[in-house]
Amino acid sequence: MNAQELTTNLKSLYKVFDENEELLTNLDREIGDGDHGVNMLRGFKAIDEKLSGDTVSDVLKSCGMTLMSVIGGASGPLYGFSFVKMSQVAEEEITRDNIGNLIEAFKDAIASRGQVSGGEKTMYDVISKVSDKLNAGELPTTDDLQQFADDTKSMIATKGRAAYFKEQSVGTIDPGAQSSVWVLDALLSGVS
Ligand code: ADP
Ligand code: MG
Repeated sequence: MNAQELTTNLKSLYKVFDENEELLTNLDREIGDGDHGVNMLRGFKAIDEKLSGDTVSDVLKSCGMTLMSVIGGASGPLYGFSFVKMSQVAEEEITRDNIGNLIEAFKDAIASRGQVSGGEKTMYDVISKVSDKLNAGELPTTDDLQQFADDTKSMIATKGRAAYFKEQSVGTIDPGAQSSVWVLDALLSGVS
């Protein structure tokens, strides 16, 4: 995947978040403050309008800076910082050989920014499982990604706003875990 293909994939997330705004809003209403759908839509509307860069690294950096500046809430700095971190390890193209490195940078960024290590019912639970699968030499499918998000349903939230809901958070997919399915899919789908 080159810079142009990456730009197309990231811009296409505007439509995905437009179509799924209500779904994310409903998840975040259950175990948060109900703004995750609006946050992601605002973020990727700005990506559709402003994403720039001639190299993969510059596109990832532009994506991170834009998400950081336009998304309020916990998810903006988390996604934003992660894209900036990925830009620092990006090579000329995203390939089957280097996608593992890229997603590991995503995972490490969330771990350090979010102070998470897995099982807290956050986006990290999806991103870290994708990273593990890539490091085991497998390319996760879209179904795998969705399964990783579905797995958060049975978890008790211990980080972020959802932690206030304690045991009541069981039974709902974490909103950020769900949004990360689509973000990761945009990064993985250009790699064969
Ligand atoms: P806010 O929680 O400020 O309303 P959002 O609703 O946009 O922000 O994002 C919520 C999502 O952010 C959660 O579903 C979760 O996946 C993620 N999140 C929140 N706190 C953390 C954290 N400390 N580490 C990792 N992810 C987190
Ligand atoms: Mg929220």
